[in-house]
Amino acid sequence: MTKKPGFETKCVHGAYKAESGQPQVLPIIQNTTYRYYNAHDVAELFDLDSANHMYTRLGSPTVDALEQKMALLEGGTAGMATSAGQAATLITILNICNAGDHVISATNIYGGTHNLFDVSLRNLGIEVDFIDQNISKEEIVKLAKPNTKALFGETLGNPALSVLDIEKFAAAAREMDVPLIVDNTLATPALCRPIEHGANIVIQSTTKYADGHGSCVGGCVVEGGNFDWAASGKFPGLTEPDESYHGIVFYDKFGPAAFCMRLKAVLVRDFGCTMAPMNAYLTHQGLQTLHLRMERHSENALALAKHLKDHPMVDWIVYPGLEGDQYYDLAQKYLPKGKSGVLSFGVKGGRQAGEKFLESLDLTSVVVHVGDIRTSVLHPASTTHRQLSEEAQLAAGISPSLIRVSVGLESIEDIIADFDQALEKTEK
Ligand SMILES: *Cc1c(COP(=O)(O)O)cnc(C)c1O
Repeated sequence: MTKKPGFETKCVHGAYKAESGQPQVLPIIQNTTYRYYNAHDVAELFDLDSANHMYTRLGSPTVDALEQKMALLEGGTAGMATSAGQAATLITILNICNAGDHVISATNIYGGTHNLFDVSLRNLGIEVDFIDQNISKEEIVKLAKPNTKALFGETLGNPALSVLDIEKFAAAAREMDVPLIVDNTLATPALCRPIEHGANIVIQSTTKYADGHGSCVGGCVVEGGNFDWAASGKFPGLTEPDESYHGIVFYDKFGPAAFCMRLKAVLVRDFGCTMAPMNAYLTHQGLQTLHLRMERHSENALALAKHLKDHPMVDWIVYPGLEGDQYYDLAQKYLPKGKSGVLSFGVKGGRQAGEKFLESLDLTSVVVHVGDIRTSVLHPASTTHRQLSEEAQLAAGISPSLIRVSVGLESIEDIIADFDQALEKTEK
């Protein structure tokens, strides 16, 4: 690769280069362990003095390549892959929060993350306050407490399709001396790289667009290498000796890769939320075409959004790429290359008409998924967000009639025709 390869070149070639006679495509190293000839070499691994592998729970070559590629695409300094997006979010929080700590999160986030924060983290003694992401920087900073350890938001809220003002959040986080963590799942680094706007940690559910083909569940954390873990004295896990590694200090030893090294060496070691080599291979395969897919997903979604906007059976539509949308200006700023493939709308006639619409679709599938090459739809109020009260659903941007659409890569004429025939049936 050239010194400053383009994003497209990074997608195709990043993080794996075949030497003469080696496989042209990133191979799956499918095993659990590694052979060494002496105890000294193994001891080095346990002291974190070697980048070699010992046991697949703690990392393996195929997973390493995926992590490096994701770090390269996001413009970060290190990556850590996990068994699922949920695990990526969980261990990111647990890397810097203990019982008694506090996190501030935007309300417009993925339902699973909301549940993780509001129920499971609370049960572990970590308190999360949810905020309207459109409040001012000053209002965010006012909510900080001495035990606040992180600020959290989604580039493109799933399924509210809100666009996060990343620079405002980053400025608030800096004032609070805490890292800004951004879930970049729906935007992907092809459309937005939050680190370039001041985010410190980026999370992705690779299950969605990164894989893109609906073949495997996974997650990845990327660190920006742009946060001083020592300055505030708030993050002892990174700045004080770790007795399980003979007193090493992660930030001293690994600098801009300290956050991910601790994720691997402590959190994934203890919790076992490892990505399997096969899944890393499949996700890497998907990333090779990420740039092209995101372009077409965005193009098709905009065309469908424009069509639905004028449709007599459509009550309302939300797509940040539509002029007049609440988030249009922020989307122009943060997602200049495309607004991703997800839109939501309401069918006239309420919930019943919505259900009729769903069952009348033919090309389009009803699935609990997003970011797939196949166009698919979901009714969050009765599925992904059903655990929330109607009030909490509304606060997360979900009305009872909301249908979330993940626009795929089929011919746009065919997608539109399928929606039209299904909408027609809702009139009867
Ligand atoms: C799906 C999703 C997650 C959770 O990822 P899994 O891979 O399903 O665990 C997190 N955040 C967002 C925005 C998602 O869409």
